Amino acid sequence: MENIIQEGKRGLLRALTTPNDRTSEISTEHAEKGKVYYCPYCGIEMHLMHPHNSIPIFAKNPGKKHKNSVCKEIDEKGVYHSFAASKSPEELISSFCHTSSKRTGIPKGTDETPPIGKADNKNKPLDDSMKEKQFSSLAQIAKYDLEDFSPTETFGDYQMKDYVLYYRWFKYFFDSQHNPIPINARIVAARYYLCDKKENLLFFEAFSKNLETNSFETILFIVRVNPKSTFQKLLEKFMGYTMSDDGRSSYRKLHKFQDVFLASDSWELLSKSEFDTQTRNIKEYLKKEYIGVYIMDLTNTKQIYLFDPED
Ligand SMILES: [Zn+2]
Repeated sequence: MENIIQEGKRGLLRALTTPNDRTSEISTEHAEKGKVYYCPYCGIEMHLMHPHNSIPIFAKNPGKKHKNSVCKEIDEKGVYHSFAASKSPEELISSFCHTSSKRTGIPKGTDETPPIGKADNKNKPLDDSMKEKQFSSLAQIAKYDLEDFSPTETFGDYQMKDYVLYYRWFKYFFDSQHNPIPINARIVAARYYLCDKKENLLFFEAFSKNLETNSFETILFIVRVNPKSTFQKLLEKFMGYTMSDDGRSSYRKLHKFQDVFLASDSWELLSKSEFDTQTRNIKEYLKKEYIGVYIMDLTNTKQIYLFDPED
């Protein structure tokens, strides 16, 4: 019994009433003791419990084991990263853009490897009790499958689409005349396209099929990286010399599909003329019509996360 109670201290703050139905998600205050609930991440059976000296949680039923990396982490470490733990999208995203001056002397070896460059750790010690925590890196957010979220899922005063621009949610980012709207502070999910080595620019695209017109709509995201040395280092994650089938080495994309998260607290919506200026060196490669073009300055490597590439 001791074991179960010990284990029960780790749990989730939200669970499903119907297996695999994200819309049936509820929080602990709306749950009843003795009823069966399901893990939102892997679907195993759970129940409501109120551990001594702790807040109510959804704990896994005896004999069940979480199967998804997100719920496993919650269960093992008691950490529950959530958008709900940040005050606003601006506050969360600013924390990725600007290096904090606060450095706490804490032991290393907690949750994840930084996406690129050197370790930029400000991991906090993990509490023993179940806690909802603010994301401290894009890597943590990347563990969650955006497909599982509804763009209108709410976190306090905000919705999922206020935090993330995902290709399936394009329609929320245009006004009634189909003009792109400012996105300001946002995490965007996009795919590497090309670079401009003269201007230290990286170009990313996100596409979505418009079911009304049956055509593809593409948004272009431009990332300006300074200084040059940082640009070069970052570029090596996307481009390099690889051998082609005929045995010749050439400079090209390292991976056919390299998806990323890009976070900026000040995405700028470009006008047609600004777009022409920014893309003057690579004009010939940009053949498509873009339905929106945004640009940001990368000041911190925490602003970019590379997913495992697909070849
Ligand atoms: Zn689970």
